[in-house]
Amino acid sequence: MEEVPVSDLAECGALETWLPKIGEKLDQFLSFKHGDAATRRTQWQEAFGTSVPDQGIGIQALVDEMTHILIPNGSVIAKPGFSSFITTGPTTAATLASLAASIASPQRIGITAFNHLEELSLEWMADLFQLPKNMKGLYSSGGSSANIVALGAARQWAFENIGIDPAEDGLVRRCTIYVSEAGHHTIHRAASTLGLGRSALRLIPTDDEGCMQLTDLNKQIKRDLDAGLLPIAVVANAGATSTGAIDPLKQIAEIAQEHAIWFHVDGAYGLPGILDPQVAPRYGGLEEADSVIVDPHKWLGAPVGIGATYVRDRALLQRAFTQGSSDYLEGSFTETDVHSHETVSNSMDAIGIPYNDFGLELSAPARGAVVWALLREIGKDGLRQRICRHIRMARNLADKVRQHPKLELLLQPTLSICCFRYLGHTNQDLDRLNQRIHRQLVHNGVNIPSTALIKGRFCIRPCFIGARTEAQQVDDLLQEVLSIGASIEEM
Ligand SMILES: *Cc1c(COP(=O)(O)O)cnc(C)c1O
Repeated sequence: MEEVPVSDLAECGALETWLPKIGEKLDQFLSFKHGDAATRRTQWQEAFGTSVPDQGIGIQALVDEMTHILIPNGSVIAKPGFSSFITTGPTTAATLASLAASIASPQRIGITAFNHLEELSLEWMADLFQLPKNMKGLYSSGGSSANIVALGAARQWAFENIGIDPAEDGLVRRCTIYVSEAGHHTIHRAASTLGLGRSALRLIPTDDEGCMQLTDLNKQIKRDLDAGLLPIAVVANAGATSTGAIDPLKQIAEIAQEHAIWFHVDGAYGLPGILDPQVAPRYGGLEEADSVIVDPHKWLGAPVGIGATYVRDRALLQRAFTQGSSDYLEGSFTETDVHSHETVSNSMDAIGIPYNDFGLELSAPARGAVVWALLREIGKDGLRQRICRHIRMARNLADKVRQHPKLELLLQPTLSICCFRYLGHTNQDLDRLNQRIHRQLVHNGVNIPSTALIKGRFCIRPCFIGARTEAQQVDDLLQEVLSIGASIEEM
């Protein structure tokens, strides 16, 4: 038999040696002088090869490949002028905390500082974003899973009210979920994943501002109740992904209450907007929510992989998502009771808060330390400044667009998204023209907004969200759109 070495080939320490090398290269990366990755793709594809290596190259050569081939061929998402997605490049504090957690607390459970920060940071966000007093949270990988968890709670609640445990027995009734046409498609996926089916969705029309129409909501609910369907939730946008529109939360909450339906607020992007005093009144009604989600990996600047769900009663989550106990897990602890901290003397005596029973994940990173770090660094004031800066940017852009004869504003911004388009000469196909302008923006690689369709009209849609995105970017984008537009018209 072949002899098996007693120790591992993988380097498992020496971070002090390797982190500075990676750090230096990442700082360089953030100056974005390396050009676009796709233009060099044959080079890096070849460099990576195709087959799994029999022998490793060791940590030194690996770090070399990371610094020379991998990092310089990364994404444009962290660029200051990137305003396409709502996810963005993480801040330094968030990056460092994420790294620290991966080494110092590979799991979120146990009586550790990391487990403690999981709960503390959730409480901080609940406080910052003015959630109902008794709401408790749970981290997950992002808005997609956060919506599934929230609607899983809604499903549990609705079925328990008719004497059925859907987690145990499955679904026995046709159900409905109410969300506006502008609702995020992760709601559609949540409906399918939870076994309700996408056809359970009732897509309520929106008004000229992109907000859910209340009369349509009311009518649809009554029609469905008459037909004997079981309503699971009414979902309101607190910041629609295309436009930033905030649904009338208060009125929607009243309608939901009138029919005893769960009220869910999708604030994946827009919940932090409540920190801007100019927009805060729009969040009236949030205090009535039964569940709320927010994505720290959007406006808060966490690395991608962090979303949060809040509900009033985590026991409901536990009934909806428990995997049942397993001897290797619960059996490894003396106590699984959260409140037994006084009696523990070792971090492995108790599991801490059993987040693994509240959602979809068993193994999960300690995300709370990341949210703690990014808030600890700049505080509520720093976060508010960022939110206000981005919202001002969208409004400032809207003002300038309104005053310019070659530009058209499609929607007055609510949050940090502004939808506008370039006006060519008469008889020009404006959808096509703006599509061409957008492709050119992307290829120039400086200001990189996305696009949206507003009532069927194609527009340019920047979403100002990144910590690196500064006020100057408004004029940069405007000038570039005007100059590309003019040059296309001359062709
Ligand atoms: C981004 C977003 C989601 C999905 O979140 P992911 O983190 O991308 O999974 C859901 N709802 C809204 C309103 C969003 O903006």
